[in-house]
Amino acid sequence: MTELNKILNRANKIVFLTGAGVSTASGIPDYRSKNGLYAQKKTPEYLLSHTCLIREPETFYQYVKHNLYYPNSKPNIIHKKMAAFAKAGKAIIITQNIDNLHGQSGVPVDRLVEFHGNLYKIYCQKCHQRVPYQTYLQSMHHQNCGGILRADVVLYEEGIKQENLQKSVLALQQADTIVVCGTSFVVYPFAGLIEYRNSNAKVVAVNKETISLPEKGIMIKGDAVQEFEQVTIKA
Ligand SMILES: [Zn+2]
Repeated sequence: MTELNKILNRANKIVFLTGAGVSTASGIPDYRSKNGLYAQKKTPEYLLSHTCLIREPETFYQYVKHNLYYPNSKPNIIHKKMAAFAKAGKAIIITQNIDNLHGQSGVPVDRLVEFHGNLYKIYCQKCHQRVPYQTYLQSMHHQNCGGILRADVVLYEEGIKQENLQKSVLALQQADTIVVCGTSFVVYPFAGLIEYRNSNAKVVAVNKETISLPEKGIMIKGDAVQEFEQVTIKA
């Protein structure tokens, strides 16, 4: 039995903290990665900022539409195994990812915090009506009112929703085991969530590169897909 499997099956209250590395096996590249798509003049930090959305809505829209959407991607084994723990009432997933893959894997809504929002939830900035993402991918203009549509995601310069912060902090305080997966864990405030953990909680990271962890944290360095393939869930 692998170390990760042992840890997960001894736990009763797990928090999974996940990032882009969880979705790469579903074909979604990390837009922050160096060999990513974007050797452009404007940085992703600008193109995904509130300023860009307001000043250059067309530029913002074209960037988002052509670089972030992978509507045909499917949850992989990592999403599925995490979902199984969530469905068994043993885990809450807090993700930085906006790709909807944890949601698609069947995690109960009350056990999923999409910390940075969800690309597939679209609303009109003028009348606040929700529209299907397919409509948004055809046009950024809301036909009903002429307002500009946007995804319900947290852009650079925008704050995290209070509700998501509160749910996350509560989950961290109650967790006996925290598993960080597929994230370099350097983006704040997400990375700061770990500070809210119970002092007795076990902290584990599954990542290709070593990341900085609290004292006694366990680093499982390797491919998360391979690690989660070997996880079995006790009935
Ligand atoms: Zn509207």
